Amino acid sequence: MTSLFNRIASFVSRRILYSGPYSIECPICHFVGRFKPFGLVPRSNAVCPKCGSLERHRLLCLALHERPLLSEADRVLHFAPEPCLSGIIRDKSASYQSADCKPQPGSIPLNIENIALPSSSVNVVIANHVLEHVDDEAALEEIKRILTPGGRLIAMVPIVEAWEHTYEDPQITQKPDRERHFAQSDHVRFYGRDFRERICSHGFDLEEFQADGPRSAQYGLNRGECVFIACKTERSGSGERDPQSMAHFALTAR
Ligand SMILES: [Zn+2]
Repeated sequence: MTSLFNRIASFVSRRILYSGPYSIECPICHFVGRFKPFGLVPRSNAVCPKCGSLERHRLLCLALHERPLLSEADRVLHFAPEPCLSGIIRDKSASYQSADCKPQPGSIPLNIENIALPSSSVNVVIANHVLEHVDDEAALEEIKRILTPGGRLIAMVPIVEAWEHTYEDPQITQKPDRERHFAQSDHVRFYGRDFRERICSHGFDLEEFQADGPRSAQYGLNRGECVFIACKTERSGSGERDPQSMAHFALTAR
């Protein structure tokens, strides 16, 4: 009886706390109510209290639902996997494998700058807020190599749209300096608008997905944030590497 009372009291208090004129809807877990703040300088309505999604996760979820980014025939490799999105991506694809340089259980160890997978072995690579941490020239070449012709890279990065050029400086290596220059101690650059040219220069055609104003309010999104969908062009080289030099992983886990 006490347990039932506690559950009812918890439900009622949550409805009071997380409802009202600031209600946000999570497209991932379908929670509706007030979201939590998040960030060094806290952003209001950033975190879904049910699934933990941030603005960028909810935008990618919308893109996955509204654009034909994944098909039931796709083999998907998901770098730095976000737990709140893994299930959605898995359900929309034929095979799913997550990977990270320091992987959690269920993921495999892969270095995005030197990916130990055969050429043309996956149809889709998802790398959400990864490229600003790494040598992106090496990473984009490797992603292109492992993608099949026509395969897609789905990526999001922090961008200063007012800047024409990306800001990076290899001399800035100390964590406090990186935090001051690039907003996070493990970031190595701040992208400008030329992020698009960087992607296309590696043999990709580029599309973008954004949410409009009403839906940004509905789902608690960062206004103007983009999901970049880079399609490996048929004219891109295959970039074959000696398979004997690589560890092979079977991308069949689901
Ligand atoms: Zn949620």
